[in-house]
Amino acid sequence: MEQIGTRWGRFSTRIFRGDDGACGLAIWHGGLTGAESVLGRVHSSCFTSEGLAAVDCDCAEQLDLAFQAIAVRGSGIVFYLLQEGRGAGLASKARDRMVVQQSGGAIDTFDAYRRFGLAPDPRRYELVAKMCAELDIRSLDLLTNNPAKIQGLKVAGVRIRPMRLAGTPSRYNADYLRAKVRHGHSLDLPRMEVAESSKDLERGDPGIGRFGRFLRVASYNAPILVNREIAWFRATAYSHDSDGHERLILSHCANPSAVPVLRVFRDRVFERVAKSAKPSREYSDAMQRIVSRGAGSILAIPDDGAWLSSTRPPTPSEDATLLQSHAEALTNLTNIDSPRRCAGPDFAHLCRV
Ligand SMILES: [Zn+2]
Repeated sequence: MEQIGTRWGRFSTRIFRGDDGACGLAIWHGGLTGAESVLGRVHSSCFTSEGLAAVDCDCAEQLDLAFQAIAVRGSGIVFYLLQEGRGAGLASKARDRMVVQQSGGAIDTFDAYRRFGLAPDPRRYELVAKMCAELDIRSLDLLTNNPAKIQGLKVAGVRIRPMRLAGTPSRYNADYLRAKVRHGHSLDLPRMEVAESSKDLERGDPGIGRFGRFLRVASYNAPILVNREIAWFRATAYSHDSDGHERLILSHCANPSAVPVLRVFRDRVFERVAKSAKPSREYSDAMQRIVSRGAGSILAIPDDGAWLSSTRPPTPSEDATLLQSHAEALTNLTNIDSPRRCAGPDFAHLCRV
């Protein structure tokens, strides 16, 4: 058991692993042993929103609201399940975003999953039942708007009473939230205009299928909160050919003649959870530099503490080579000098993870 400090106070954490290999963190506050009606949130990890401050979904906000509600009540628990992309993985999530954007909104995230041959919400919740049993939690007041999650938890044998979790929709996540409403989520959505990204962002995708052992999986436009303002980045997902290791490169190309800032950023799950909805200082500083310079790429590594994959992760040098190759392909497209020659001190920090 470990203690973490969050902006909503100190929480205890413990890692759990299910019989099927599923992995999750229990993060709780207060004495819960033998308790009924424990305030709880069953939350699936969202690397892009919780780690990278993307605002095209509502995951970071929901996680933060859950911690806040627990702090207000004085006790409660978050079951943080490492099942990215509704359990289908980061690569599927990126492909989903790409397909939805390419369709101009004609299909939504749940349709996209169906096209990939996936269930619209393929998450499983047996691990939550195991966590409740081991922590001796008898029943939950569950913060959720999702009927599929309620059903899935009941099937897994968790006794729950659902409670709504009300966030603040924005024009950046309105399309995504509308898809959730069509899929039965209990959300109040005011009428609002949907934010449109520029076609120019596609300059941030080198469009090359493979760099070393990394395969390019998908590319889409991501609105990211940088220094309290939204900046659009091109997000390109890569999958390493050793199973289970994925990378996301966020590229910003507002000024094609600027020398790009390049960074590697490792997002560790414990830190992600502790900082709740706020991105880390290291990441924020890098993103601010990229936006103020008008060009740059950040290679983001979701670090789940090697719980998910038993295969060897890519080496720092493989990661640096991926970022360098990606950036060089972009700079070739925009006809400026190679960052290897001209990025100066920025490039020297490339391998700092
Ligand atoms: Zn999300």
